[in-house]
Amino acid sequence: MSRRLPADVDPCAEEARQGKSLPLTTARQRMLEAVSPVAGVATLALAEALDRVLLEDVYSGVDVPSHTNSAMDGFAVAASDLPAEGERAFALAGTAWAGRPYNGETGAGQCVRIMTGAAIPAGLDTVIMQEHVRMDGDDAVIAAGHRPGQHVRQAGEDVRAGDLAVAAGTRISAAHVGLLASLGVPTVQVRRRPRVAFFSTGDELRPIGEPLGLGQIYDSNRYTLGAMIARLNLEPLDMGVVRDDPAALETALSEAAAQADAVITSGGVSVGAADFVTDTLARLGSVGFWKVAMKPGKPIAFGRIGNALFFGLPGNPVSVMATFYQLVQPALERLRGIAQPPPPVLLRAHCTDRLRKRPGRVEFQRGVLEHGGDGRYTVRGVGHQGAGVLRSMAEANCFIVLAADQGEVAAGSEVLVQPFSGLI
Ligand code: AMP
Ligand code: MG
Repeated sequence: MSRRLPADVDPCAEEARQGKSLPLTTARQRMLEAVSPVAGVATLALAEALDRVLLEDVYSGVDVPSHTNSAMDGFAVAASDLPAEGERAFALAGTAWAGRPYNGETGAGQCVRIMTGAAIPAGLDTVIMQEHVRMDGDDAVIAAGHRPGQHVRQAGEDVRAGDLAVAAGTRISAAHVGLLASLGVPTVQVRRRPRVAFFSTGDELRPIGEPLGLGQIYDSNRYTLGAMIARLNLEPLDMGVVRDDPAALETALSEAAAQADAVITSGGVSVGAADFVTDTLARLGSVGFWKVAMKPGKPIAFGRIGNALFFGLPGNPVSVMATFYQLVQPALERLRGIAQPPPPVLLRAHCTDRLRKRPGRVEFQRGVLEHGGDGRYTVRGVGHQGAGVLRSMAEANCFIVLAADQGEVAAGSEVLVQPFSGLI
């Protein structure tokens, strides 16, 4: 059976035909191009909207701040009354509090004691900080040298009524929640959370909590995948372990695709005798098999089964994580409607270790990033860098990203690192 699909179905068919590996950036770009955001809307109370994706532009219905107010505790005056030189005594007409405005008149040479956030009284336009005012009985004595209009926050200075406040496709952060609250927005329309089904494949896999027989291992990938999916605020659908059996796989894939927006599997995509995922997929859907020039994680399947996106990841536990973060996560961000997924954060660091590397594939080695004393970052490799050694991921706090054409890294070289912070 042919494992290759025509170019209109598999954008990498040509490379696959030629047996070529795809550069990671090409693979990522082509995956992104194949994904469009899920349809479906939810209306949520603002307090429930953290980490959801905004469906429509939100325009402000109000000015923020809604009234011109003081940025300081002090005394409000008219700039035209300020002395050009020396000092001037201002008679105190009253007090303006935040939420309790001074509604009276002020005559020439009068001032109003004012608190931060209080509305600037009519006729006044400048605030003199309390610390710069000397009291003389009931008079406030103010010296020359103040700037007209100082310490005043103008109505609409942050956001004007009619301004675009938060754009469609924004992942709602704590700052957006606060901004929307400052506009008085009680509910927001967000995209439905995509449902992501996932399962592991392999006859050697045992569920956790049961004893292991000879040659068996615990199914860790399903837990890793579930955690990575939950971290993206997607709706996980755990479909368990599927045996290395074409009929069982076919059933599991069909069921998963019928219920989910995306299906992720681990294992079975290489060319071993029990790697049935590829053949089954070629039958079921429009899925391409890509050799992506990255390590860990070379063989990856990507495409569609029915209406669901499909990602077939390698079985090795570190490969699962590396391919998820480098390829699947950007695609899932697009699926959940994020218009501009943030670019990968890459820092330069001084590598204190020698790192083994052969040219050919971009490598994501696991490292520990620290602040060097001299303001630079330093990084060292952690543990055994095998694709099966999950401990290397757990002990690391960054990927050390080594370019495809790079060979061995000498100790003391500068390398690029991708911090886990914000990523995993
Ligand atoms: P495969 O890609 O199916 O050939 O698997 C590659 C390696 O990853 C093998 O050593 C598998 O035993 C291991 N592996 C596959 N699936 C899992 C899983 N769900 N949890 C832990 N290890 C796995
Ligand atoms: Mg397997």
